[in-house]
Amino acid sequence: MIKRVLVANRGEIAVRVIRACHEEGLAAVAVYSEPDRLAPHVRDADAAVLLGPAPSAESYLDIHKLIAAAKDTGCQAIHPGYGFLSERAAFADACKDAGLIFVGPPASAIRAMGDKTEARRRMQAAGVHVVPGTAAPLRDAAEGRREAKRLGFPVLLKAVAGGGGKGMRLVANEAELESAFEAARREAQKAFGDGSVYVEKYLERPRHIEIQILADHRGRVVALGERECSIQRRHQKLIEESPSVAVSPALRRRLSEAATAAAGAVGYVSAGTIEFLLAATGEFYFLEMNTRIQVEHPVTELVYGVDLVREQLRIAAGQPMRVHGATGPGGQLHPRGAAIECRITAEDPFNDFLPATGVLQYLRVPSGPGIRWDAGIEAGNDVTLFYDPLLAKLIAWGETREIAIQRMRRALNELVIVGLPTSQPFHLRVMDDAEFVKGEIDIKYLERAGARVLAAPPRAGLDRALAVAGALLADDCRSRTTAGLPDGRTAAGPSPWVVESRRLGLRDGLE
Ligand code: ADP
Repeated sequence: MIKRVLVANRGEIAVRVIRACHEEGLAAVAVYSEPDRLAPHVRDADAAVLLGPAPSAESYLDIHKLIAAAKDTGCQAIHPGYGFLSERAAFADACKDAGLIFVGPPASAIRAMGDKTEARRRMQAAGVHVVPGTAAPLRDAAEGRREAKRLGFPVLLKAVAGGGGKGMRLVANEAELESAFEAARREAQKAFGDGSVYVEKYLERPRHIEIQILADHRGRVVALGERECSIQRRHQKLIEESPSVAVSPALRRRLSEAATAAAGAVGYVSAGTIEFLLAATGEFYFLEMNTRIQVEHPVTELVYGVDLVREQLRIAAGQPMRVHGATGPGGQLHPRGAAIECRITAEDPFNDFLPATGVLQYLRVPSGPGIRWDAGIEAGNDVTLFYDPLLAKLIAWGETREIAIQRMRRALNELVIVGLPTSQPFHLRVMDDAEFVKGEIDIKYLERAGARVLAAPPRAGLDRALAVAGALLADDCRSRTTAGLPDGRTAAGPSPWVVESRRLGLRDGLE
């Protein structure tokens, strides 16, 4: 029934979905904006459709253009990836109206879980604990104050339509409430076109633990264990792992039961994630459900031996999922070994994670035992401010967590990115940090460890030398670009600068 899939996304997740299509024997059609014409997802697909200029509203977020691209190229299905339109119920509806299969859950499930207060009500009805808070949006700041006093400060104001930490405000005391309420409302209105906010008790040092589920059209729901995503900055994930050192088999069973109940409560189909906050006492609370594939899905794939994107495609085609060994609600598979993911972003970790732009001059990709590299960029690509700063994900698997960390450290040392700052050195510091290595992590980790892992290295002189080398390399790439391939390579092989830097062991000299 499905032969050709339109991949309505860009970057690493578009490449990931194209790979899954090809392994399933399906053709994949890419879409792209003008600055993305040389991106790997465009080259890897069987066909590609130009959507329009750089701004997402005129390209990756334009529902009409995407549906037209799918129809024009003979696709039967659309995979939305994550971000962009992946959690817009209107997009799932538009696909259906156009006779296309949306590779994801039914629009009704997206709608129910996209409204955080509605999701909380449904979870409570299904017997799942939610973080204490209001069941409906706040009418005004006065109601916010009453509810906050009832819950006890500190509290968190949250956007009902929230995502990506937007419209979220921590309120330490009564005096701060009114201005925080107005700020949260404004931010939510701007980001989601809906200024509704509600209030939750702020938990002091929980872990962020989420459960991966898969559900098919035949009523089968399985839980694929947890991911620990407590290493965050400003409520956004940086490093994820599976399994979590804090989750015993008994706790995993309870979390899985709550997650499958959550999925059942909204008639869920496809891959989805139920997020929880886990308190030090072992109690856990439903946070939200993400009705799509997650950035951090590879760690689950490595420890559970499942290809989640291929399963999404199979389920969308009406086939049964191919996950073996688990049945029924709370059914479980067992993790094998441990996996860790580091998000490699175009941000300067030593300058408050300032987003970085520029041409990626040179890239050396790590490989070898237990290493997976999921990237949406390659040497010669231009990194702009138009899109998410995520360049690639480096994932390490090991028989134990300790081995996975050792492998990640080794792979991070192999990775060379010249042209712009990235989060790579931050990840190396974390892999060496005693607290992280012991697994003593929670969502406040970075606040505590910041002084250790975010202090700028004393290497200004070396940075200057690297900048000069980078500039020379840029000139070299440019002159080759006119004569050779568009990404700076030539048929004759890598640039002499690259050969020379390898010969000199440039990276070793910089440490
Ligand atoms: P978003 O949908 O905007 O990403 P989430 O509800 O998923 O927001 O929360 C993102 C992160 O914010 C969590 O992983 C956690 O670190 C923090 N957070 C959210 N709610 C609470 C809470 N009630 N108490 C403490 N931290 C919270």
